[in-house]
Amino acid sequence: MSADPHCIFCRIVAGQIPAKKVHEDDELLVFHDIHPWAPVHVLVIPKDHIASHADVGDAHAPLLGRMLALAPKLMRDLGVTNGFRTVINTGPDGGQEVHHLHMHVMGGPRPWVKG
Ligand code: 5GP
Ligand code: ZN
Repeated sequence: MSADPHCIFCRIVAGQIPAKKVHEDDELLVFHDIHPWAPVHVLVIPKDHIASHADVGDAHAPLLGRMLALAPKLMRDLGVTNGFRTVINTGPDGGQEVHHLHMHVMGGPRPWVKG
């Protein structure tokens, strides 16, 4: 498993920076976004350092599948009952700020900070 010592999400995986974790398994970590856009806003990340969605290929299909497949259970467990939104920002034009692959999963009653 690769890690980048300068990557903020690798440091969360390593326990060097605190996060409000909601799920952890051998491959994935899920925690609350520090600046939520919606009443419920979590980030699903692979523990392995993958810089962005642009670095993903066929070999990552099971991992990406697991990230998407986990979202409904996360939202149910967090009390989201009326739908949710999944977003992956990729690269400069995609608005990616943290360069460790992550999927935003957001839910809860509107209005949201970023609709
Ligand atoms: P991006 O724009 O890269 O898709 O989203 C990065 C997200 O990571 C932002 O929503 C931001 O609030 C969140 N974030 C950045 N640093 C931290 C941190 O140290 N802890 C947590 N929990 N979230 C962070
Ligand atoms: Zn990383």
